[in-house]
Amino acid sequence: KPAHQRELFGHPAGLYILFFTEMWERFSYYGMRALFTLFLVAETTSKNPGFGWTNGEALSLYGWYTMLVYVSSIPGGWLADRVLGQKKTVMLGGALLCVGHAILALNSEISFYVGCFFIILGVGCLKPNISSMVGGLYKPKDERRDLGFYIFYMGINIGGFTAPIICGYVGEKINWHYGFGLAAIGMFLGQIVYVWGQKYLKGVGDLISVKNEKDREILEKPLTSVEKDRVKVLLLSFLLIILFWAAFEQAGGLMNLYAQQKTDRNFFGLGVIPASVFQSVNSFFIITLATLVGLFWLKWRRKGRESSSLFKMAVGIIVMALGFGFMSAAATEYQNTGSSAMYWLILAYLFHTIGELCASPVSLSFITKLAPLKYASIIMGLYWAATGFGNYAASKLGVLAQSLGDFEVFTGIMIIWTLIGIVVILLLKPLKRLTHGAEDGEGAVV
Ligand code: GLN
Repeated sequence: KPAHQRELFGHPAGLYILFFTEMWERFSYYGMRALFTLFLVAETTSKNPGFGWTNGEALSLYGWYTMLVYVSSIPGGWLADRVLGQKKTVMLGGALLCVGHAILALNSEISFYVGCFFIILGVGCLKPNISSMVGGLYKPKDERRDLGFYIFYMGINIGGFTAPIICGYVGEKINWHYGFGLAAIGMFLGQIVYVWGQKYLKGVGDLISVKNEKDREILEKPLTSVEKDRVKVLLLSFLLIILFWAAFEQAGGLMNLYAQQKTDRNFFGLGVIPASVFQSVNSFFIITLATLVGLFWLKWRRKGRESSSLFKMAVGIIVMALGFGFMSAAATEYQNTGSSAMYWLILAYLFHTIGELCASPVSLSFITKLAPLKYASIIMGLYWAATGFGNYAASKLGVLAQSLGDFEVFTGIMIIWTLIGIVVILLLKPLKRLTHGAEDGEGAVV
């Protein structure tokens, strides 16, 4: 059999090429991200000097950066759709990322900005398109597709788990730029896998040239009233996605600085755990708990209970919001004793992760089911952009905590986001009516 038709463990061999490429891409992204704010606030006079910025300044730049890496999915998706095809755009993205991360290994102020700029372009070209290529490995009705995405998601989190430990440790303990350099080496390995693996990806992610007349006719029809209703729910689900990440993405920003500045990280007298290492906790829980949460929802549905995507998104938001209760407890302990215990952070990340496992996997499939065909690509771009806006809002909340206080912001998020989830559950019936059975199989259009 030719390489691209070969299978491994019951899946197209190409899946494993995309798996390892994305694993290393996320290794570089999360390895660098774990160091980002810590590096900016490190004193210029210390042995391992940073930029000596305030927390607020660091969080602001972090917000712009983490927004733009995802918003750049819109030009990245456009480039793939119209000019290069997904496969070549991923290749370009990988090259840009190798350059960007390598530049960060240099020690100067201007190189930091230039490096980030390349990474923004690189993630925009790589991340959305490699995800779409996973879908492209399977024929439309292939039942293995969901499992394929699950496997791919594990790759993402193996990268997200290992990078903050390796890059974080080296960056914080030895030299920030060595940490950034390790992220660059990771991306370089990913690019090697991708280039080597091209033979397994034949026929996937190629540019679809001029659409034929008949397709265009479908595409030019005005939206039906059913489609219009679905667009309304779609806009609401985008809002939920923004809100979800706006709270969740305190992780690399405010919570990372909290770990560094206010948490007792002494490990039973054996040594002090670097703050950045806590950035791997989310991915650790994803890897260990994903199956359990999946099984829970399966059993829940078999009992005939409510299991629509909107419901799961609302439950995810509530569970994640409750996680901030542990951060409120940490902030109280800090106010009383001058430091707070590590387990508060771990418990918060545990709840955040269970929330992510409820909300995040269903949200993407939900919006693809609701999107009218003619907007399919735009909607995908908007999905990633929504993640970006959520990241930006998250940094704003982190900046707010600098004047309002940690306790106030953590508690505020817990209360407001729980209420948001409850409102969605209360409005579930009318909202589901607007989907016109998009989730019932029969009525599903896309
Ligand atoms: N951790 C996941 C990833 O990196 C989700 C990130 C996100 O959408 N904010 O792919």
